[in-house]
This record gives sequence, structure tokens and C-alpha cells, in this order.
Amino acid sequence: MSDKPSEKDKPRHFIREIIDADLASGKHDHVHTRFPPEPNGYLHIGHAKSICLNFGMAEEYGGKCNLRFDDTNPLKEEVEYVDSIKEDVRWLGYDWNGREFYASDYFEQLYQYAEKLIELGKAYVDSQSAEEIRAKRGTLTEPGENSPHRERSVEENLDLFRRMRAGEFGNGEHVLRAKIDMAHPNVIMRDPTLYRIRHTAHHRTGDAWCIYPMYDYTHCLSDSIEGITHSLCTLEFENNRELYDWVLDALGVYHPRQYEFARLNITHTVLSKRKLIQLVQDGVVESWDDPRMPTISGIRRRGYTPESIRDFAERIGVAKRNNLVEFALLEHCLREDLNHRAARMMGVMRPLKLTITNYPEDGEEWFEFPYHPEHDMGSRKLPFTRELWIERNDFMEEPPRKFFRLAPGKEVRLRYAYYVTCTEVVKDESGEVMEVKCEYDPHTRGGWSEDGRKVKGTLHWLSAKYAKPAEIRLYEHLIDEPDPAKVKSGEELHQFLNPNSLEIVQGYVEPELAEAEPENRCQFERNGYFCADRKLHKPGERPVYNRTATLRDTWAKIAKQQKK
Ligand code: ATP
Ligand code: MG
Repeated sequence: MSDKPSEKDKPRHFIREIIDADLASGKHDHVHTRFPPEPNGYLHIGHAKSICLNFGMAEEYGGKCNLRFDDTNPLKEEVEYVDSIKEDVRWLGYDWNGREFYASDYFEQLYQYAEKLIELGKAYVDSQSAEEIRAKRGTLTEPGENSPHRERSVEENLDLFRRMRAGEFGNGEHVLRAKIDMAHPNVIMRDPTLYRIRHTAHHRTGDAWCIYPMYDYTHCLSDSIEGITHSLCTLEFENNRELYDWVLDALGVYHPRQYEFARLNITHTVLSKRKLIQLVQDGVVESWDDPRMPTISGIRRRGYTPESIRDFAERIGVAKRNNLVEFALLEHCLREDLNHRAARMMGVMRPLKLTITNYPEDGEEWFEFPYHPEHDMGSRKLPFTRELWIERNDFMEEPPRKFFRLAPGKEVRLRYAYYVTCTEVVKDESGEVMEVKCEYDPHTRGGWSEDGRKVKGTLHWLSAKYAKPAEIRLYEHLIDEPDPAKVKSGEELHQFLNPNSLEIVQGYVEPELAEAEPENRCQFERNGYFCADRKLHKPGERPVYNRTATLRDTWAKIAKQQKK
């Protein structure tokens, strides 16, 4: 049906190569991955790439994938985010089979490991301020400077660390640092902080802790505790790998391997929770799941299918170098999927009345419309009456040469119904066209002329008597700028916003679409793919449809240019 790659000719990306080699050499006899989001925002399409990779590899190799919330920062995390993340992963079609973990579940164990590092002489309590620590870290070209507390005894360190835990100190009074090397060429290795004091309640552990472990310390140990085989993360963690390895080696615990892959970047799309949160807070968009948002819940509401996102993730592959993917490719994957699945329906976005003057006032005929031009999806009948709605831009009073739609004196086909010829244009005082009058040819019933006469244009239409008024939401990119790297901060975002990213029009749809469930996807013939809004559309009420994508596939053109 489609040209999706089959299982066996999926691209051989480097992660697959590594897993194959590890299984062949006997290093591992199974695959166990994890997806480790921080619950400080909604997931976006970049996360989808990571989800598809982690869950996808587990699925492909008959292994397991954990869903692990990296909830070490009590300040920014909320239950709402945890719930949305689970919903999004499930919607993409993946299941963690009950393996839902939280880094915070390991707080006690991580604490015990930290005491062990102290006992091994590999960690110490530093009492310098954050500024002092930063100032003495050195630079890429200059070594750092040892802390005056670096040589504290094991006893003193243990005592201070236990009192840190007990809540005897205020925020920032002490930190626990790894004792590595202040002259290390990798700056991350210059005695990194492992624990800081933060008198803040945590959404899961409540007031149990006032010291919280840092990401680098928590992440590797969580992987180790869960028996992860391949710890897949994005390239910005490349330099952190050395610390990942150091912590696990220092403690002598099970040691997964970390592999880094390139983040997904897409044209016209900011993929950073920090920037996305700004859009929500500043009211630029309605919510995290606004259909213009690149969040998973946003593109879901827009009408994307999980299948198209998984296909997209497979096609972009997994590379070691950062690159920029065209948004048009994502749309292309969507169209490929929906082309086969979406029923063809009638929807008029900008209605113009068409009256057939030689058709009986109370005349009514029902014409058969197939749901799909190629696949057998059945059909339904639609009523034809004297007054119809057509698309405003399907009529031009003074058309250019190649305009094959309706114009004075011109004949077109009304899909599956009749040929009509425009005989009169009705305008209001301002000169705006309010109605077109036509005559139909009864010898063209079903949309085909008995005398073999051809017309170039075929228009979609709806009976004015039966069509349901509908709210139709049309979208464009939220960000005008194609290169997201130019959008440096949440504040700067504002200067790149596209003022036309949302247009709401009052159109008409065929009655069946008003009864449809939320998230019903279909094609409005000639107008694009649409989806009944998940939140606003209620069966039996005035329908609300989002345009997911137009029918114009710009990807083919881009792909051709890139080949040149
Ligand atoms: P953001 O920068 O958007 O806040 P993050 O990396 O801080 O994202 P996490 O919750 O820490 O968000 O991410 C969970 C996982 O998703 C990590 O393994 C991370 O590497 C991966 N990930 C995040 N963004 C992308 C992206 N654009 N492409 C691929 N993977 C990503
Ligand atoms: Mg992060």
C-alpha cells in the first residue's frame, strides 16, 4: 500500500549496529533501554524520536524499555507533566508494561552510594559558595583550583553529609562533590557537584529530603540499578559520559554503556521545553496541547497519527551529527498515512452560495459518494438541492487564463452531481460577490455528460439545506523563521512569531461529520486533511475541525532539490 520500509530493510543506523555486535559477542543476551524524561513540561516531537528509538529498539530485539521519570529537581516538576508524558507515550503506541520508575524512588539508595564514595575517599563536602566553586572551576584552557575543603577527612565528610541530610544547614551552605581532578581536560570532571541542599518539598517524596542528587550522578546510577544495557541519550551529553563512567567505576557497580545520538531539529519548530513553556505562559498559544504546538499532545490534537510519527522517526534515522529536518517531511509522512486511511468528505471552508435557477425549488436528489477513491471503504449518499455552498475561491468574476473553476459563462462539474454554467453574479453594495447563479444540464446526471462533453474543473459542494455550519481552524507555522537555532530564548521567540498561525473560519460540513467523535480524521476533498478537535468538538453540536495539513506535498519538491 505505501512505500514504508519493511522490517528488514529499515536503515542500519549505528545503534542497531552496536546492539547487533553486543548480542553477537555475547556482551549482552538481551536489550534493555529506558526513556528518561524530566517531568518539567510536555513532551515534544523531539522526545518522540527518543521514545521511538528506545521503545523501538526494545520492541525490535524482544527486549524491555523502562519509562523513568528523572525527577531530581523538586522545583520544576509537577504531577500534571507525569500524567501527560504517560498519555503521550501510550498514544504513540508504546507500553512500558508496568516498568514505570522514578529517580526519586532511588533517593535512599543514591544516598547510600554517596556515603560509600565518601568512605572510598572519592567524594567530599565543600563549603564554598556556588559562586566560589564556579570561579575556581578554570576554563577550557586553564586548570581549576582545589577547594580548601578538598582534603577533609572521611569522618568529617561523613558527619557533614549526614547533617546535610538531617537538615542542619541552609540552602547552598554545603555541597557534596566528587573528588576527581581540578585540572582535568574535561571541565565536567573537575570535582562535579553530586548533591546540593534544597529545602523544597518534592512532588513524590514530600518533605523526606532536603538534599537532592544532581542529574549526572542520578542518571548513571538509575541506569545501573535498572540493569539498562544501552543508555541512549542526545549528543549534548557526550562530555558527561566520562562522569557517567567514573561514578559507576568508582562504586564498582553494574555498568551500562551510554551512546549519544543527534537531537531532532525541525525547520520552523522550537523544541525546547523552556521555550515552549514561555509560549504557554505568555498566552501566545492556548495551552500545551494547542494544535500549533510541536508537543506530542499538540500534534495529536492537530490530527497527526501515531503511525505517521513513528514512520517519521524511522525515516530521519539516528545519526551522530546534528542536522535540520524539513517540517515538510513530517507532513509528508502524515499524508502518506492518511492518504490510505482517511475518508474523503465534503467540507466548504469559505462558503459562497450557488443557486441553480433551473432546478425545482423543492427539488432534491441523493448522489452516491464513495469514501475512498482506491480502497473499498463503502459510500454514502449526499443531498443535492437548488441552493448549494461552494468554495469562495472556486469562483472568479474575471479569471486569469488558466483558471478552470467557475466564472461567468463557464461550465464546471459539481462532483458526482451535474454540470453547471454560471449565468449571473450577485454582489452587495461594496462589490463583494454574495451569490452566483447557475443553470444545470439535466443530461449530466452523476457528473458525466451524455454527449461526451468535457469540463476541466470539478468543484466540491454541499446542499445549503442540509449542510452543518462548522468552525474550521486553519493553521500555519507558529514560527516564521525556518532555522530554529536563530530563536535563542523564550523572550526572543516573540519577534519570530507568525501572526497568521491560526485562522478560524465559519464553513460547512456534511451532516455525518457533525455526528463524528472527537479526533475523527478525514480529508475534506480538495482542502486537506482535517481532524475533529479533541477538546472542542462534541458529537451532535456545532462541529469544530482542525486542518491537519493541506494536500500540497512540498516534500517531493524539496527532496528533488536536495538530490541535485
Ligand atoms: P528540552 O531541551 O526540550 O527541555 P530535555 O532534553 O531537557 O529537552 P528531557 O526530559 O531531559 O528533556 O528528555 C528526555 C529524553 O528525550 C532525553 O533522553 C533527551 O535526550 C531526549 N530528547 C530531548 N529532546 C530531544 C530531541 N530534540 N531529539 C531527540 N531526543 C530528544
Ligand atoms: Mg533535560
